[in-house]
Parts: sequence; structure tokens; C-alpha cells
Amino acid sequence: MKNRILPLLSSVALLLSFTNNIVGQRRPTPITDHYDTHLEADLKTLQEAALADDYALRTLAHLCNNIGPRLSGSPQAAHAVEYVAAEMRKLGLEVKLEKCTVPHWVRGIETAALTAFSGQAPNTTQKVVVTALGGSVATPPEGVSAEIVVVNSFEQLKTMGRVGIEGKIVLFNVRFDTRMAAQGEWSQAYGQAVAYRGLGPSEAARLGAVAALVRSVGGADFRLPHTGALRYAPDAPRIPAGAVTSEDADTIAYLSAEGKVTMHLTLTPQTLADIESFNVVADLKGTEHPEEIVIVSGHLDSWDLGTGAIDDGAGVVIAMETAQLIRQLGLKPKRTIRIITWMNEESSGSGSRAYAESHKSEFPNHIAAIESDLGAGHPLGFNARIGEKALAMLAPLTEILRASGAGLIKVVPGGTGADIEPLEVDGVPCFGMLQDGRTYFNYHHTAADTFDKVIPRELAENAAAMALLAYAVASLPDRLPR
Ligand SMILES: [Zn+2]
Repeated sequence: MKNRILPLLSSVALLLSFTNNIVGQRRPTPITDHYDTHLEADLKTLQEAALADDYALRTLAHLCNNIGPRLSGSPQAAHAVEYVAAEMRKLGLEVKLEKCTVPHWVRGIETAALTAFSGQAPNTTQKVVVTALGGSVATPPEGVSAEIVVVNSFEQLKTMGRVGIEGKIVLFNVRFDTRMAAQGEWSQAYGQAVAYRGLGPSEAARLGAVAALVRSVGGADFRLPHTGALRYAPDAPRIPAGAVTSEDADTIAYLSAEGKVTMHLTLTPQTLADIESFNVVADLKGTEHPEEIVIVSGHLDSWDLGTGAIDDGAGVVIAMETAQLIRQLGLKPKRTIRIITWMNEESSGSGSRAYAESHKSEFPNHIAAIESDLGAGHPLGFNARIGEKALAMLAPLTEILRASGAGLIKVVPGGTGADIEPLEVDGVPCFGMLQDGRTYFNYHHTAADTFDKVIPRELAENAAAMALLAYAVASLPDRLPR
């Protein structure tokens, strides 16, 4: 990509190179006509400032430690909206709270124990570490007792049929592939296991199960259950559903191979009435084309077990840092940089949908959208759903980003970010931060997703990558082509 020949060489650049050749001083080849020396210098200044600044880190500490978990519909989520809006106003941005309706689900008691199994010591039970899946209905307050059936796939569940499943608790014992994740294919590893969390409860319910459990979708070995949303099918009965730790899933599978295993399970979450919440939309107005928008974003809601540091407080604060840095340095992007902190990514994506509905007519003027939602690990660059021309235009930027190890632009067919998906579908060039996710799924959706998991230097590298991409796209002479 370094030697890519770019079209539309400007006459100025041609003249310069001509002049330089005459006097015999080989001036370094201009990066491209699109990047005048000012822009190139600004990007380098921005990079240096981003790597030195701690605004993102301090803001993340406040979100996690002072405000805490930000489950959609919770008082903390509402408070976080106010906090982010106030911070953006302090920087002089034009801030709007844009409505969306979110589910209001509240976790309750969650306990489980094996009450009958092979080789059991008399008068004992064995504790199972469980957490309710987001959106789950409750068991009766006193809990439910039933035999457990362990299955390793949807096919196996179907083969067992109603006769094998009715009246039982189904455990989907499908492993998160830690080796696949360790080799960089973490999203793949997640995708293939998470299907059971999303769809498993309804599949089991169709065959008469009284509750469903999944092996936690994640890679850690510290007996931590991983929560996350389930998706009840409209045509299936709703049964209580939880995630057990991978260690407990192994124990249950071991005991089931020896004979009948009975569990007592109590989950008492509540689904309250839907509630109004907000995306925070903060504009740093462009000087030449204020109507043209470049989005930087992360999602403000989180699960409730931890404090939402890596998922996705980190994404929120690096987007906020873009605004902070541009203000601090007095830079003037030509186009508007819009910071969005999305609400309700985790359970239904209603924030993203609300934005798409109310801004659809402006999509032709959305030049690019960037989202960070794969943690706070060292950024390698971006997953990008862009065309060849856009890729060529970004080549000089990636040269600069390479200095902090973030110069990779991996062109993907889609799936750059859950919240920017409507823009992606519309054809807007979209970018998802491509972080080192090798340990992300150890903490993802657990009680251990806390501030200490974020490495300050890596957070700053993320802030730098997002700010540079946004500022470049917002400042290039031409729009990034679709
Ligand atoms: Zn997330």
C-alpha cells in the first residue's frame, strides 16, 4: 500500500516535485495530494497528544468506579447519560439527548445446587455458580427442581425430542473455543458459542424443558459465569435461563455420564415496563462542511455484574477523547465529528435503531462511522467495510498509525459494529476498532469486567487510532468515497 499510485495528483504536488527535481534535492514523495503538509502534521500532533493524555482513562475511572454498572433502564445508565452529556458540553460541543425506549430488566436472586447425583455424600448438595441471562423470566420464588439433561448441540437436543426433554432442565454444554480465540479469531469463537445463549432457551422450551442453562460463553478459568442477552422466540414458551461457569458445566457433564443428576434452580429477575433512555449525540462542528458527519462511538450501557470497563466503557471514553484532543489542540476539522454514546447495545439495540430512524434522511451526508466495542486491548487498526478508493485514500493515514502499531485496515464484508450496522447497511464507510481481543472474552459480561483490566497505554493507543481516523476523514479535501 505504501507505493500505491493515487489518482488526481494535485497540480501543487506536481509543481513541488518538479521544482524539487530541478534543484536536485529529492524531497520525500508527498504522502498523497489528499494529505497536505498541514494535515499530515496535525495527525502526528494528534497522535502524540493522544498517547500522552489521560482524559480517556480518568473518564473511564469515573464511569466504572463512581457510576458503576450501566444496565439499560437502570438509574446508573440514566446518570451516565447525564455525565457524558455534561462532559461534552464542557468541551463546547453541541449536545443532544436522543430518545430511545429500552427494556428494564432487573436481576434478582440466582442460586443453583445439585441435589441428587451419583456418589453423593448423604445430606449434602453441591453448589453450582449460575447467573441469569439478560431478559430471562423468573423461576417460582422457591425455585424449581428437575433432572438435568446435558446436550452438546442443537441437533442432539432435537434427536432427544420431547420425550427426552420435557420437564427437565437442559444444559447446553458448548465450549467457547479458547485456542481459536488465542489465535486471533476471537469473534469467530464467540459467534459459534453465543448462538446457544441466544437461541438455546427457546429451542429447549419448544420440547417442554422447564429451564435452560448454557455453559458460559467465555474463556476464563476462574469459575465466573458470563451473562448476556437471550432471545426468546415469539412462538415458544418463555422459560428461565441462566449461564453456569465452564467448571460447573464440566462437573455436571461428568456426573450426568454416571447417572441421573437433579438440580434446584432459583432465578428471580424481573422485567419491568420499558423505559425511556437516550443516546448522547455530541457534535464538534465542522468549519467547511458542518452538514457532513463523521461518527465516533461506543456504547454506554453495560451488563450489571461488573462495571462495564472493557464492554464498553472503553469505547465510550476513546470516542470522548477524540473531542477532548481536538479541542485541546485547537484543531479545526472541515466536517462535523459526532461523538455518539449508544444506549442499549447489550439487550436490544434500540439506541442504534432510534438513531437510524431519526437520522435516515441525513445518511447521504454521513461520511464515515467508527465504533469501538471489542475492549481496550492494543489496537491493530480497524475492520473496515469500505471500497478500494477509500482504502487508497487512507493509506497515508495508516502509515502514521503504524507508529503506534495500529496501521492495519482489514477490509471486511460487514459486521464492523452492532450500533453502526444501520449505517453500514446503507453504504456509509464503517470502521470497527480492531483490538487485541485475546483476553477480552475472559472478562466479557462477568463480574471481572472492571477498571483494573484496562491498561492505560493501550487505552491511549485506542484513543489515538480513533481520533486520527476521525480527524483525517473529517479533514480530507474530498469525501471518503462509498
Ligand atoms: Zn459491547
